[in-house]
Amino acid sequence: MSEPYDVDLFVIGGGSGGVRAARIAASYGARVRLAEEYRVGGTCVIRGCVPKKLMVYAGRFAEEFEDAAGFGWEVGAPRFDWSVLKSRRDAEVARLEGLYDANLRRSGVEIVPQRAVIDGPHAVRLADGTRVSARVILVATGATPVHQPVVPGAELAITSNEVFELEEQPKRILVVGGGYIAVEFAGVFANLGSRTTLVHRGDKLLRGFDEDVRDALDAAYAHRMDLRLGRHLTRLERGEGGILAHLDDGGAIEVDQVLVATGRRPNTAGLGLDTVGIAVDPAGAIPVDVFSKTSVPSIYAVGDVTNRANLTPIAIREGHAFADTVFGDKPTSVDHGLIPTAVFSTPEIGVVGHDEDSAWKAFGEIDVYKASFRPMKATLSGREERTLMKIVVERAGNRVVGVHVVGHDAGEIIQAAGIAVTMGATKADFDRTVAVHPTASEELVTMKVPSAPRRPA
Ligand code: FAD
Ligand code: NDP
Repeated sequence: MSEPYDVDLFVIGGGSGGVRAARIAASYGARVRLAEEYRVGGTCVIRGCVPKKLMVYAGRFAEEFEDAAGFGWEVGAPRFDWSVLKSRRDAEVARLEGLYDANLRRSGVEIVPQRAVIDGPHAVRLADGTRVSARVILVATGATPVHQPVVPGAELAITSNEVFELEEQPKRILVVGGGYIAVEFAGVFANLGSRTTLVHRGDKLLRGFDEDVRDALDAAYAHRMDLRLGRHLTRLERGEGGILAHLDDGGAIEVDQVLVATGRRPNTAGLGLDTVGIAVDPAGAIPVDVFSKTSVPSIYAVGDVTNRANLTPIAIREGHAFADTVFGDKPTSVDHGLIPTAVFSTPEIGVVGHDEDSAWKAFGEIDVYKASFRPMKATLSGREERTLMKIVVERAGNRVVGVHVVGHDAGEIIQAAGIAVTMGATKADFDRTVAVHPTASEELVTMKVPSAPRRPA
């Protein structure tokens, strides 16, 4: 008997979510085809987490050189070569892309290097016109940077996509935005020695994060760069020596590049969703149920295109859970409730669970423990730097419902603290954990006296 469909699963998009879903579905015996219009690996591998983190590492050497002198090292005047970093970073990204490609093929997934759009509940159409029928379609097309604010001359600005293509290091850069991407890249450029201005419309960076964390980052960034809060970009124009960026206070700054990092929009435009009656939400995202199923039973969606929590580990989990559910006979949903996350600013930020404000609203009675101190490594060099450790405890059950770290290795620390919080650890569990000395994170298990809350608990 001939198969009713060309494939069991057609995946549109070869990023974090699509690749995981394709491989796991294939491991269950499904015949899987995956279309990728740009490069396999998607945003995270090609122009997101991975090349970004390599640039963060590059920038952090600046403070290592500074600290080294305080410990007796004579390192001379350090010199940074952008072209070396770019070519080595690009080579690493290409290596990873090759690994993703090879692993997919080894898993039995057929890769189609083309754009694909939906052409019916069980059909996709490729850019070359080929129509492929599929029992199930998975949309994993990710998201794309939005070019905001729309001001005269906006076309002179670049986004995080183009930042990885810059052949030269901008000597002067203006970054617009106050979210993850803006603070990460402003930190990178400032550390690499570019004269950096960060313009954000809000009164603090990183809306939605704990207020103490935001204050700590604002203070650190005001020290490291030209930080303009509560300001709007009004116009960009090409000047004699670079780009002139005009702000709403009447001032203008001349820079070599303007990076807008003002959010991302799900990749749903022109995807053929209308042909099957899937309506996107106001943010342009595809609504799905807990098993990532859309309103059409044969079409699922995972990752950034669903705008649930736009992080790689979440896209991977959603892709895996989809494959388990649909092809592994193991209905699996993803818990989006407790997501540890890191912002690779300098200083770094690691967070899991409630901030003080949201805990106060959720539980009413909370205790807050916090410590702010100069890290040991900066003492001999005298470098101006503070580390923040903060724990939020729900008073009735004594449960630790939030941990916030600002400082070296905050991402690494929060991954481990996230296990304890996920397990439901109490403050008493933290207290009976023996400290590792001397470390910064020992503060997490040695803070005994609650701080005055920022608002009455
Ligand atoms: P993507 O990885 O975006 O993959 C979607 C793929 O679909 C793309 O390759 C695209 O080319 C392809 N595609 C789109 N439409 C079509 C079509 N019609 N046909 C064929 N192919 C198509 N997350 C973290 O957890 N940690 C970080 O440190 C981090 N850093 C980031 C830094 C930056 C600068 C950016 C932009 C993002 C970062 N993220 C980070 C977020 C992370 O990259 C995303 O959450 C993750 O990549 C989402 O995976 P996805 O599979 O949903 O989509
Ligand atoms: P975010 O949503 O995090 O931040 C967008 C920023 O742009 C906010 O500060 C917002 O201000 C501002 N903004 C929005 N619209 C305008 C406008 N019209 N004019 C001026 N400012 C504006 O988006 P990002 O682009 O930084 O990152 C997208 C997502 O990618 C993140 O949310 C995260 O999920 C993921 N990511 C994760 C990383 C990690 O895990 N380390 C790193 C990078 C990205 P306001 O706050 O006032 O709304």
